[in-house]
Amino acid sequence: MATTCDEEHPKLLFGKCRWCQRWILHGEVVPESAVEQLSPELENAKQAIHTILLAKLDLTKVNAMPEAQVKRELRLVVERLVEIEYPRMTGLDRERIVRAVVRMVVEKL
Ligand SMILES: [Zn+2]
Repeated sequence: MATTCDEEHPKLLFGKCRWCQRWILHGEVVPESAVEQLSPELENAKQAIHTILLAKLDLTKVNAMPEAQVKRELRLVVERLVEIEYPRMTGLDRERIVRAVVRMVVEKL
C-alpha cells in the first residue's frame, strides 16, 4: 500500500512535500544540509539581494511586526526579488537564497 509521501514525491519536479515538509527535487528528497549550503556564486547573489532588500525595507515597520509575520512577509518580498534579479536560477537555488536572506534580516532585528 502506498503512503502519502510515496504518491506525492514522484509528482514533484520541485517543491515542498505537503506530508513530510521536505524539499523535493525531481522526485527525490533533498537533504536539509544540501538546502542550507550556498556555493560562492549563491553567496554573492545572497549579498546582492540583501542589499536591494535593505534599500526597500522600512525597518521600523518591520520591527513592530511579530516575528512569524516578518518571516512570512519577507519571504514573499525576497522570492519576488530573486525572481526579478535571477530569472534563470533553479527553484532549489532560489529557495537557498530566500532562506539565507530572510535569516540574515531576522537575525539583525
Ligand atoms: Zn514527503
